[in-house]
Amino acid sequence: MPNAHDVAVVGAGPAGLAAAVEAAEAGLGVALIDTAGQPGGQYWRHYDENHARPDDRVGHRGWPVFTALRDRMYALRAAGRIRYLPGHQVWLITRGGSGAFTLRVTAATSTAATTERPRDAAGRALVARALILCPGGYDRQLPLPGWDLPGVMTAGGVQALLKGHRTPAGRRAVVAGTGPFLLPVATGLARAGVRVAAVVEANGTLGWLRDPVGLVSAPGKGVEALQYTALMARHRIPYRTRTLIREILGTDRVEAVRIAKVDRDGRPIGPDEEILADLVALGWGFTPSLELPLMLGVETAKDVDGSLVVAVDDLQRSSVDGLYVAGEATGVGGAALAVYEGRLGALALAAALGRPADPTVMRRLRSAVRRGRRFAAAMHRTYPVPRTWPEWLSETTPVCRCEEVSYGDLRRAHDDLGAEDARTLKMLARPGMGWCQGRVCGFATAGIAACLSRRESTAEDLRPLATRSLAVPVPLGELAALTEDTTPVEATGERGRDDG
Ligand SMILES: Cc1cc2nc3c(=O)[nH]c(=O)nc-3n(C[C@H](O)[C@H](O)[C@H](O)COP(=O)(O)OP(=O)(O)OC[C@H]3O[C@@H](n4cnc5c(N)ncnc54)[C@H](O)[C@@H]3O)c2cc1C
Repeated sequence: MPNAHDVAVVGAGPAGLAAAVEAAEAGLGVALIDTAGQPGGQYWRHYDENHARPDDRVGHRGWPVFTALRDRMYALRAAGRIRYLPGHQVWLITRGGSGAFTLRVTAATSTAATTERPRDAAGRALVARALILCPGGYDRQLPLPGWDLPGVMTAGGVQALLKGHRTPAGRRAVVAGTGPFLLPVATGLARAGVRVAAVVEANGTLGWLRDPVGLVSAPGKGVEALQYTALMARHRIPYRTRTLIREILGTDRVEAVRIAKVDRDGRPIGPDEEILADLVALGWGFTPSLELPLMLGVETAKDVDGSLVVAVDDLQRSSVDGLYVAGEATGVGGAALAVYEGRLGALALAAALGRPADPTVMRRLRSAVRRGRRFAAAMHRTYPVPRTWPEWLSETTPVCRCEEVSYGDLRRAHDDLGAEDARTLKMLARPGMGWCQGRVCGFATAGIAACLSRRESTAEDLRPLATRSLAVPVPLGELAALTEDTTPVEATGERGRDDG
């Protein structure tokens, strides 16, 4: 079959790029499919390479790792060992009687300028004996009064505009939420000329001391933290710990934020203070993107940060035979860990398919993944989402913006109609039923369901809001083409950086 491959890798971020290169170098025939027009994923997102400037790399960490992986990938493609499909997204995966996976792909709705539009997106199918899914994640969002005002963005979205488009999203910013990711966003904005009025961090930083082994599991991260501290000082960015935004103020758009000191649980303990801003970047961590793995029925678990993740063993194997998962989808832990996981999954698969895989390299990778996970767990315990966050909400605060469901609607569904879990809340009040299918409000709805019922959220709360029949919206023509079905994927969207 012309469109059959040993392995299909979905995602060309740190995990997927590493997995594709490693698998192809081990002798497997690889298809690499990615929504973006050029490789790199979220961490190495960068401006259109056809119009690159040297300063595009400023603020990019691990850039030599990226360029080495990218160059190896392009060389393998030129040798016919990787079929790279940028600007394409996988919207459905099924499995036939032979055990092979069939992936339906469609043109991404917005591809970068470096990628030609595919000539014909309808009815494309690609078949693979095995899969390595590396779909990454998206920003985790928590509602709060005023979060729907223009000028409020996710921290990842602000970062993506800066890295991918050289566009600062405002002039005077407050960066708020929790976790180390607030620092690159704040310093990136400052470097781009934005006045960063404050970084508002919900937690303290001493939490690291509770897990010294976790802290030293990734020594490079300590150096990174010191570099960010120096940059924050150079740009005179105030860093307010144990502080929360209680409300975002403005009439037609953001004008200011109201902040207060909070205790460990996130309850205010100090007077309110106002800070003027026209941009609020909110970062509460990331939510793994599980549409594709869930379609195949993988086992999941709730991670330390409260996210639903794919459960994998120490070779990145999921509970579904032939399906490997790497990167954020197995737990949010950063780009370096994603690279180790991608490489390990690819080598484990190569070994399973009878290709030589150096056991020493695999042992080293397994140990690097263990250390990376240990560090990630320490990070999540240091920067948790405050336990009492649903108490910030007023009756009218929108939770699901697509379907305009407020906190009051959810509370009434619980109090009056007996909705005790997220699935029942979704059925009775419609959060997660709109355009984004729960990507924005899923984590929040699960948390609210748990809080209203006075218990911790569980994987069962998270799963119904992460499960989607189709991974991405597709034109009706794609669905209609399912009945015809046989068109092979042609690599029409492919174009190299230098061999296009
Ligand atoms: C908006 C955003 C910005 C971020 N910026 C930073 C940052 O600046 N610094 C930092 O340390 N961390 C950042 N992160 C966290 C970062 O995602 C990870 O640390 C790292 O990139 C994870 O690597 P990964 O390979 O698992 O996933 P990613 O880098 O997210 O790569 C996943 C790739 O899979 C593709 N994909 C997903 N679904 C499909 C599909 N159905 N079909 C085809 N392709 C698909 C995506 O387009 C993406 O290119 C960001 C996260 C987000 C969501």
